[in-house]
Amino acid sequence: MSEKKALQSRWRRANLHKYDAHRAVAAAIGSGKLERQGCEVCGALRVDAHHDHYDEPLNVRWLCRRHHIQLHFYGEDMFPLQSRPPKETE
Ligand SMILES: [Zn+2]
Ligand SMILES: [Zn+2]
Repeated sequence: MSEKKALQSRWRRANLHKYDAHRAVAAAIGSGKLERQGCEVCGALRVDAHHDHYDEPLNVRWLCRRHHIQLHFYGEDMFPLQSRPPKETE
């Protein structure tokens, strides 16, 4: 009878990190601590905050819906971080 509830609380536990991270981002934007930026790929202004690491809730990448979906679909290496040092050529 409470199978649904059990499933829900299991989901919450599994996703608590995500949930907390998104709440932290929303709060930081609200308080001006974090500034929303354009999509790092195409510059679109309607963006989602993407977390590479949910244990660093304010370390986000800004991606429009399309590129956000692509990133999750193809993996995080699809759009390398701009701060990543250039590969050494040999
Ligand atoms: Zn984009
Ligand atoms: Zn994401």
